[in-house]
Amino acid sequence: MSKIKKIAVFTSGGDAPGMNACIRAVVRTALHFGCEVAGIKQGYQGMIDNNITEMSRHSVSNIMQLGGTILKTARCLDFRTPEGMQKAYDNLKLNGIDALVAIGGDGTFTGAERFSGIYNIPVICVPGTIDNDLYGSDFTLGFDTATNTVIEAIDKIRDTAESHDRLFFIEVMGRDAGCIALRAGIASGAEAIMMPEKDTAIIDLIKTLEEGAAQKKSSSIVIVAEGDKNGGAFNVAKKVKETFDFYDTKVTILGHLQRGGSPSSFDRILGCRMGFAAVKALLRGETRKMVGLRSNEIKLTDLKEALTDHEFKLEEDLLEMATILA
Ligand code: ATP
Repeated sequence: MSKIKKIAVFTSGGDAPGMNACIRAVVRTALHFGCEVAGIKQGYQGMIDNNITEMSRHSVSNIMQLGGTILKTARCLDFRTPEGMQKAYDNLKLNGIDALVAIGGDGTFTGAERFSGIYNIPVICVPGTIDNDLYGSDFTLGFDTATNTVIEAIDKIRDTAESHDRLFFIEVMGRDAGCIALRAGIASGAEAIMMPEKDTAIIDLIKTLEEGAAQKKSSSIVIVAEGDKNGGAFNVAKKVKETFDFYDTKVTILGHLQRGGSPSSFDRILGCRMGFAAVKALLRGETRKMVGLRSNEIKLTDLKEALTDHEFKLEEDLLEMATILA
C-alpha cells in the first residue's frame, strides 16, 4: 500500500501543447487510485505563493483540446534560493501534499531534483517542451504539435513564395536543438535546412540555391533553426543576399505561434500516457525520475541521468534524407 495520500501537479518553464492532456491524466489517475489531487498554479512560483487549488474529475473536463496549460506556468527565481524552497515546502505541507508531478523542461527537472533531495518529497517529472531536446524520451510533449504548426505556416509561405518567385528564410524555434527545423523542413520540402547539429557554411547554402535556380526552381524555402550557428534567419538572409542578389528575399520569424494551438492527436495521447505513468510510478514508490517514451514504450530515467550532459543527436536517416529529397 502506498503512503501517498495527496499528489500535486504543476507545469513550469515554457508552455507546450499537450500539457493539459497530461494534467487531466494525472488528476484522473490519482483519483482512480484513491488519492486526492491538488493543482499548483504558475509552477514553482505558485508553490511559494501558496497558489494551490483542489482538483476534481470535473476541474479537468473539456481541457484536452486546449493549447497552453490551465495551471499556467512561470519562471521563478526565488525557487533557486533556500528561503524560496523552504516556503514552497511549508506550503506543500500546509496543503497536505506528499508527492509531486512536475511537467516542464530541464530547468524544471533541476529544481525538482534539488527540492526532492533536500525535503525527501517524491517527485516524477514529465518532459513538456516543444524543443524535443531532453534525454530519455524520443519525443517531448508539444513537439509534434509545434512541428505541425510550422509545416502549416511553411505551406502558406510557399504559396506566396511561388507566386512571386521569392526566396524565403524561415526561422523556427528549438533553442539549441534542430528537431523542429529538421522534421518541418523534410515534411514541407524545404530547399535547405540550417540547424545547430549540422554546420552549413553560407557558401554551401548558396551553392544549393544556385543548383535550384539552375533547375528553374521558381521559389525556395530555407529553414533556419534559432540555434543555428550562422546567427538566425536575418543574418543568413543578409549573407546570402550579398552574393545571390537576383532573388527577391524575405525573412519570416515564426516565433511564439509555434507554442500555441490545439494539441495534435500524438501530443494528446502522449500527455495521457505520461500523466498516467507518472502517477503509477509515484504509487509504486518511484521518485526523482522522468517519464519518457522510448521505442513507443513508457520508460523511467533517473533525473540525474536525464540532466547529465549527453551529446544531442538527430536521426542519421533524417539528416541524410533531408539533403537527398530537397
Ligand atoms: P523550457 O525548456 O521550456 O525552458 P524549463 O523547465 O527548462 O522549460 P526554466 O525556466 O529553465 O524552464 O526552469 C523552470 C523553473 O525551474 C525556473 O524558473 C526555476 O524556478 C526552476 N529552476 C531551474 N533551475 C533551477 C535550479 N538550479 N534550482 C532550483 N530551481 C530551478
